[in-house]
Amino acid sequence: MNKIVVLGSFMMDLVTKVERLPKNGETLVGHSFTQNAGGKGANQAATIAKLGKPVTFAGMVGNDDFGLEAKKVLDSLGVSTDNLEVTNTSATGIGNVMVDKEGMNRIVIIPGANLVYSANEFERIKEIVRSSELLILQLEMDFELTKQAIDFAHGNGVKILLNPAPARTLSKDLLKKIDYLTPNETELGILTNQSIQTTEEAIQAARLLVEEGVKNVIVTLGENGAVWIDESGSITKMKAFSVDAVDTVAAGDSFNGALACGIIDDLDKEEILKTANQVGALTVTKAGAIQALPTIDELEEFRQAINRIEV
Ligand code: ADP
Repeated sequence: MNKIVVLGSFMMDLVTKVERLPKNGETLVGHSFTQNAGGKGANQAATIAKLGKPVTFAGMVGNDDFGLEAKKVLDSLGVSTDNLEVTNTSATGIGNVMVDKEGMNRIVIIPGANLVYSANEFERIKEIVRSSELLILQLEMDFELTKQAIDFAHGNGVKILLNPAPARTLSKDLLKKIDYLTPNETELGILTNQSIQTTEEAIQAARLLVEEGVKNVIVTLGENGAVWIDESGSITKMKAFSVDAVDTVAAGDSFNGALACGIIDDLDKEEILKTANQVGALTVTKAGAIQALPTIDELEEFRQAINRIEV
């Protein structure tokens, strides 16, 4: 039985590269088009599989080509897709992404099938969740369903990792059921209604969430790394690894996947944060979502290269 279940979204990212973003009513000829499998849930499950751990992905796609592609991509990585449901009532979720030459983007997401996943489908994965160690969720699915899943896992002693993205305010009742909450700085700002500019401000805001009952708050800080505040208030900081960033898509998702692997292996916080920062750093060195995620071999090579530099 898999120890980790990810209940989350799949989105097909449709990415056009343009010199500049078009004005109202304007048609532009762009540079390129790529279709990248992504979605926060799928990215996190794919990271775990690429790092060599068994993982179940539960989610929903439409009865269409993008849905078929979702299954193909996740299967090829070894993610268990037995619980990837297909609906006839909605199309597979998409992200319509336009990126200009400065790397600035505009994104429209149509969640589609992701929002059709309901309590009926969750009923079918209850046994799998009950026998798992960790349930990973984000906020791209129907919120009522997400709350039900959290209640169920919490009630059955299954640890919960919630990546609160896209961010929304969360009730105290929900927060106290969360074992690992993983906002980035912006999400932390929305969760706590504060403006977060510095690591110190992030730590203070994370402390407020711990006071509300979250057991561990792990804040990702982009090129500044990450910080972990646990329920005793103890702080573990870890710097990011210096890389040439090409595209930050899926950095947070890869960090979350690596974090989950470390939690399951019961490693100490420094070790977990170090690996999650390495995985995040490697992800930003490549374009796209799932195809940018490092494999365990690439992670190992990166570690050896770092060691050579440090020696
Ligand atoms: P999100 O993608 O959710 O906004 P972050 O931008 O905080 O998340 O990135 C997640 C993690 O990825 C960071 O904690 C860090 O480990 C890594 N990371 C992100 N950007 C960079 C970067 N420019 N250089 C090195 N590591 C990075």
